[in-house]
Amino acid sequence: MDLPKNNSSNFQYILENYKEICYNVENARAKYAKNGENVQIMAVTKTVEPEKINFAVSQGVKLLGENRVQEFISKKDSYDKSAQVHFIGHLQTNKVKYIIEDVSMIQSVDSLKLAAQIDKSALAHNKIMDILVEVNVGDEASKSGVAYDQCHELISEISQLENVRVKGLMAIPPIGCDESVFEKMHELYLSISEMNIKGVCMQILSMGMSGDYELAIKHGSNLVRIGTKLFGARKYFGG
Ligand SMILES: *Cc1c(COP(=O)(O)O)cnc(C)c1O
Repeated sequence: MDLPKNNSSNFQYILENYKEICYNVENARAKYAKNGENVQIMAVTKTVEPEKINFAVSQGVKLLGENRVQEFISKKDSYDKSAQVHFIGHLQTNKVKYIIEDVSMIQSVDSLKLAAQIDKSALAHNKIMDILVEVNVGDEASKSGVAYDQCHELISEISQLENVRVKGLMAIPPIGCDESVFEKMHELYLSISEMNIKGVCMQILSMGMSGDYELAIKHGSNLVRIGTKLFGARKYFGG
């Protein structure tokens, strides 16, 4: 017997999870956010079937996060277009052209070389691409991201590019790290904001995932990226 497809009643757990996340985010925001600043909730969609993603969008999710170019290309045509998509995974320069038209932000820019390629590709598509600079705040050899100490310099260089606009920072603090790492990231975000670099518009600090989003909001995050807590544990296939 075939299982029913597209039966959204099977997805009720996603709605329950989403409600709980919204509740927790709202509490953390009310407690910590200065000026009642809004906190965006991104649904991280790696390995998740489009039916589940569209269900989440139908329940109010407005922002999706994609990690893998190949996976995104194979799924994007089935997505409900009312949500925006940000790219959040490691991006090779030769793959920029495959995503440039379909994402509204690239959060994982960590080199001038990548920014320059995005600039070129954006110009070819007659658009200005919003980006975040990814910072390797835990200084982990296995993680991408620009070194903390080199972030100012990289942003100054990227600000010269005409078809790329820096909108803030993204980070993945190491699992179980000290709270001071989150605060260190917040300080970097504030110090770059205060530099008032021409063409740089610091609006987003993207930090916090399923295990640490409330802590991240406490330390200034205004965009949390949630996968597991929303869709359940991931099935891993091919990396
Ligand atoms: C997978 C991923 C997330 C979400 O992680 P969860 O722990 O499942 O919430 C957030 N950000 C990035 C960059 C990711 O790759």
